[in-house]
Amino acid sequence: MSGLGDLMCPEKCAGCNRMARGGLCRACLAALPRIGPGVCGLCGRPSLRPAARCRDCRDRDLSFDLARQAVGFSPVVRKAVHLFKYSGCRWLAEPLASLIIEQIHHAGGVDAVTWVTPSRDRVRRTGTDHGRVLAELVSGALGKPALPLVSRVRRTLPQMRLDPDTRRANLAGAFRAGLCPPDEVLVVDDVFTTGSTASEVARALKSAGARRVVVLSVARSYAPDPGAYT
Ligand SMILES: [Zn+2]
Ligand SMILES: [Zn+2]
Repeated sequence: MSGLGDLMCPEKCAGCNRMARGGLCRACLAALPRIGPGVCGLCGRPSLRPAARCRDCRDRDLSFDLARQAVGFSPVVRKAVHLFKYSGCRWLAEPLASLIIEQIHHAGGVDAVTWVTPSRDRVRRTGTDHGRVLAELVSGALGKPALPLVSRVRRTLPQMRLDPDTRRANLAGAFRAGLCPPDEVLVVDDVFTTGSTASEVARALKSAGARRVVVLSVARSYAPDPGAYT
């Protein structure tokens, strides 16, 4: 690999700062806080008493059939995702994708892999569609094609600081899927927070004809006030 991004981003471990191929050494990757096995049956939220639905998703109209995340959004994961998305550290794609691949047994019999389309501004700014990079690595492990099935049809505000109702309104109708997507689709993403974005992507896929949508993310972050959903 070469280029300006490499100069700004030496291949050091995002966890221990030692030189490490892939940007995350084996020990730090293994030490990330894995989620589970006790999780919500639908959205994957960790739970001491797992049920079909948890307080985060119980009363919500979520369009995906299953969502799972590999690890909690720890400072190391946060740093790795940030370096990958905003600082041009492309090699972090492999360890981040490996965290999605750890959960591949949840994909069942999906026919294709797709990703959450970033805004055109983001792609222009960073020069990369990061979701596509992750999807292509997962596609290789799964033996199913990575296809651009969903497009973002209007601009949305960054979700992070919006309350739940505003998040929903912000995303409503923001994605559209092409005609006749495969029957079962795996959506891969970096960070799952409330699931609103994943749900809108799933809704678009199902409106176009998909029957089952599974969402696998690298990490789970938590809404500022999860109680707001109960
Ligand atoms: Zn390390
Ligand atoms: Zn849940």
